[in-house]
Amino acid sequence: MSAFDDLYEANEKFAASFGSSGLTGRAARGLAVVTCMDSRIDPLGLLGLRPGDAKILRNAGARVTDDVLRTLVLAVYVLGVERVLLMPHTDCGMAKVSDADVHGLAAARGVDTRSLDFHTILDQDEALRHDLTRIRTTPFLPQGMPVAGAIYDVSTGRLQPSPH
Ligand SMILES: [Zn+2]
Repeated sequence: MSAFDDLYEANEKFAASFGSSGLTGRAARGLAVVTCMDSRIDPLGLLGLRPGDAKILRNAGARVTDDVLRTLVLAVYVLGVERVLLMPHTDCGMAKVSDADVHGLAAARGVDTRSLDFHTILDQDEALRHDLTRIRTTPFLPQGMPVAGAIYDVSTGRLQPSPH
């Protein structure tokens, strides 16, 4: 009995009717989506995508970190990505705490996290603008590649394209 038995059991059923064995690792729709780890977001479902269609990059807050850029570079040059959608969401937990708050919560459990930068969000609009600029101006991605931002509303399921 492990803490993961429910998952292994569910996978038995999933694998029994598995139908995606012919897919390659290339993004069939030429898309990468950068979104948050929030458990309410179903990136494939809300965008009308299926397994095989897109690269999905997730982290806390949908922030464009060095590792997100690294992954986008690989996605573009190796795995068929030609466009990027940056998709943060409403009611994001990362906009409700500061880095100092997180350090404090960890410290209360005896853990020192001060060497980590959590990229918490003070102003979501500003963070989205900043992160879009980071993707658009990195020297490592092709000039002029389509990059868009849109905020997913977790209470309505609706995507609001960003003017940035
Ligand atoms: Zn979030």
